[in-house]
Amino acid sequence: MRTQTVELAHRDIAYCKNVGAKRADILRSEKNIRTAMDMLRYFPFKYIDRSRFYRIAEINDEDTFVQIIGEVTEWHTIGIGKAQRLSATFFDGTHQCELVWFRGGQYVKLQRGVKYLLFGKPSRFNHMYNFVHPDLTPWDKVTPEMTQGLEPYYSLTEKMQRVNLNQKAIRTIIAGLMPEVKMGVADTMGADILQRYRLMSMTDALVNVHFPANTQAMQNARARFKFEELFYIQLQILRQMKRREQNPGFAMPTVGSRFHALYKSLPWDLTGAQKRVIHEIHDDLKSGRQMNRLLQGDVGSGKTLVALLCCLLAVDNGYQACIMAPTEILANQHYETLKAFLAPLRDAVHIALLTGSTTQKNRVPIHNGLMNGTIHILIGTHALLEDNVQWNNLGFVVIDEQHRFGVAQRAKLWTKSLTPPHVLVMTATPIPRTLAMTVYGDLRVSIIDELPPGRKPVQTIHYPLERRAQVYAFVRKQIEAGRQVYVVFPLIKENEKMDLQDLQNGFNELCEAFPEYKISMVHGQMKAADKDLQMQRFVSGETKILVATTVIEVGVNVPNATVMMIQNAERFGLSQLHQLRGRVGRGADQSFCLLLTKMELSKDTRQRMDIMVATNDGFRIAEADLQLRGPGDLEGTLQSGTLFDLHIANLATDGQILALARQAAMDILDKDPLLEDQMNRIYKEQLDILRVQQAYNWSEIS
Ligand code: ADP
Ligand code: MG
Repeated sequence: MRTQTVELAHRDIAYCKNVGAKRADILRSEKNIRTAMDMLRYFPFKYIDRSRFYRIAEINDEDTFVQIIGEVTEWHTIGIGKAQRLSATFFDGTHQCELVWFRGGQYVKLQRGVKYLLFGKPSRFNHMYNFVHPDLTPWDKVTPEMTQGLEPYYSLTEKMQRVNLNQKAIRTIIAGLMPEVKMGVADTMGADILQRYRLMSMTDALVNVHFPANTQAMQNARARFKFEELFYIQLQILRQMKRREQNPGFAMPTVGSRFHALYKSLPWDLTGAQKRVIHEIHDDLKSGRQMNRLLQGDVGSGKTLVALLCCLLAVDNGYQACIMAPTEILANQHYETLKAFLAPLRDAVHIALLTGSTTQKNRVPIHNGLMNGTIHILIGTHALLEDNVQWNNLGFVVIDEQHRFGVAQRAKLWTKSLTPPHVLVMTATPIPRTLAMTVYGDLRVSIIDELPPGRKPVQTIHYPLERRAQVYAFVRKQIEAGRQVYVVFPLIKENEKMDLQDLQNGFNELCEAFPEYKISMVHGQMKAADKDLQMQRFVSGETKILVATTVIEVGVNVPNATVMMIQNAERFGLSQLHQLRGRVGRGADQSFCLLLTKMELSKDTRQRMDIMVATNDGFRIAEADLQLRGPGDLEGTLQSGTLFDLHIANLATDGQILALARQAAMDILDKDPLLEDQMNRIYKEQLDILRVQQAYNWSEIS
C-alpha cells in the first residue's frame, strides 16, 4: 500500500493517462498540480445530482444545473454571420423553456418528435426559463453513467479550457487513476484519530470525493479531507506555540508602585473580567517564559486600560513597553488616552509617540530616550519597527490590530532583543472563533466578556435617508434633553477631496437643520490643533453635534453623547459599524444608533443592517460578518496572516470540524510535543512534507 502511495506521489502528472506534456505544463502553472497525487487532491468544488430529473415547473433556483426530459417543438435562426444565433423551444409535456446557442448553432442537429435529455443552467428572461448552450442529448444516446449519482465539478481557468482541460477531461484523468487508488492508498492520518473522529479512510475518501456513491459518502469524504487539512495546520501552529513556550522570557514578578498608583487613581473599580485577564497576563509575566497572548473583548470593554496596566507591570520591573497601532490616527488616540490616564503619575511614567509623521527633529530625543531608558512606554505605528529604533530593554509589546499585522511582522519585533519581549495582541473588535484559531492560533487567549457596570444596551434603528426629517426630529428631542450627537460620514480613501466635499455638504445641511445649536466638525485632513479644538468644544458640551469621518471610530469618550447617527451606513463593514456604535452608551442614559441608508439595498447590505439592529453582541456580529463575507475575503487575511492556503475547508462553515481538528492536534502535542514517539511518526512526516511545500519557512519567523 505504501509503495502505491509513494508511486502516486512521485509520478509526474505528465505521465498520467490522458495528460501529456502540454496539459501537464498548464496543470502545473495554473493549479500547481505536479504529481498524480496532486491531481487526486484536486477536489471538486461542487457536485450535480444527475440522478434527479426536473420538471420545468419545479425550477426555482437560477444558477443550479438541472436536467429535464422533453422534446424540441420549434426552432429558428436569428441574425446573420457572426451574430447568428439558434433559438429553440423545449417542451416537457406541460411547460416550455427556451434554448439558445450564440455560437456553433450550425452544428446543433435538432429533430422533431425525438425525446431529449436537456442539461444546463437555467436563467430567467422574459418570464421564461432560458438555457444558454445547454447539453442536449437524444435519449437513445444517453448512457447509464450520464444519469448516475453525483457529477463532480472542478474549478477551471481559461488557460485550462484552451487546451481542452474541461470538466470532462479532468474527470477522465482522475478516473484513470482510480484503479490504482482502489488498490489501497496509505493513510496520512493515524488509525487512532480516524477511529476516534469516525473519519473515512484515505482510499475510500479519494474515491468518494471524486465519484461519490451517494450524498452521504460525498459528505463523509469531504469531511475527512477538511479535517485533515485543518488538523495539519493546527498541528503546525500548535507545535510552533509549544516550541516557543520553551523560550526563556523576562521575569516580571513584581506588582510595583506605578501599577498601584494608577489603579488607585481610577474613579471606578476594574470589572471582574478585567481583573481576571490582568491575572492571566501577570501569571505569564512571572513564569520566566515568553508570553504570546491574544486579548479579546467587545468595544468599550476596557481593553486599553488593561493594556496600560500591563505595561506598567513591565515598567515597575525595570523594562520598557510599547503599544503598536495599525494607523496613525489610532496611535494618536492611544497616546491621548494614555496621557489622560497617566496624568496623576506624570513624573513616574514617561511616554512618547512615534509615527511616520514624527519630524526628524522630534525623533532625536525619542531615539535617545528609548536608548537610555528614560522613555518607559512608546506608542506608535509600525514606525516602531524601523531599524534605527533601539531600545534599552524592551520587555513588553502590545499590538493593537484589526487583522492588519501578520505573523511575520509580529515576529520582527522579537529580533530586536536576544530575549524576546512578551507580546500581547489586542483586537479592536471581537474576531470569529475560527479566525482566532487560525490567524491567532499560536496565541493563548484572554477574553474580557463583561462591560463596565451601568451601561444600557444601545438601541439601533435603521432608516432610509428619505425619512431624514423624522430622524432630525428625534435628534432634536435628544439635544433638548441635554444630550449630544455624533454624525458620521463614510470615507473612501481613494478620493479624499470628494470625501471632504461630502462631509462639508453634510455639515452645511446639519447647520441649516439645527440653526439653534453649535456644531463641530473633524476629519483626518485637519491640522492636529484644529481637530483638538473642535473635539474639545464637543467634549466640554459647547457644541451639541460632532460631524466626523471615521476619525472618531476609536478613542473618543463622551458619556453625554447618546446618539450615533451613521450616514450611508451601507458603505461600512459590520465590525466598523459596531465600533462606531460603541462610542455611545457610555453614560447612564439610553443611547441610540441610527443607521441611515438609501432605500434600495442589496441583500447583503440589508442583512448587515438587520444584524446591527438585532444584536449588540460583538462576538455574534463577528460571526455574522464571517458568514456574510464568506471565505473569499478571509483567504486574503489568511494568506497575509498565516501563510495557510485552504483547499477544501472553509472557515465560515467548518467551525465545528476545526474545533475537533485543533483538539486532536492538541491531544497529540500535549503527550508528545516534539512528535518523537514512533506512534506519531506519520504526523511528523506529513509536517515535513507540508513544510517543504510551503514557500515560506514558518520556522524562520519565530
Ligand atoms: P475598548 O478599547 O475595549 O473598546 P476602552 O478601553 O476604550 O474599551 O474603554 C471604554 C471606556 O470605558 C473608556 O472610557 C474607559 O476609560 C472606560 N472604562 C474602562 N474600564 C472601566 C471600568 N472598569 N469601569 C468603568 N469604566 C471603565
Ligand atoms: Mg479601544
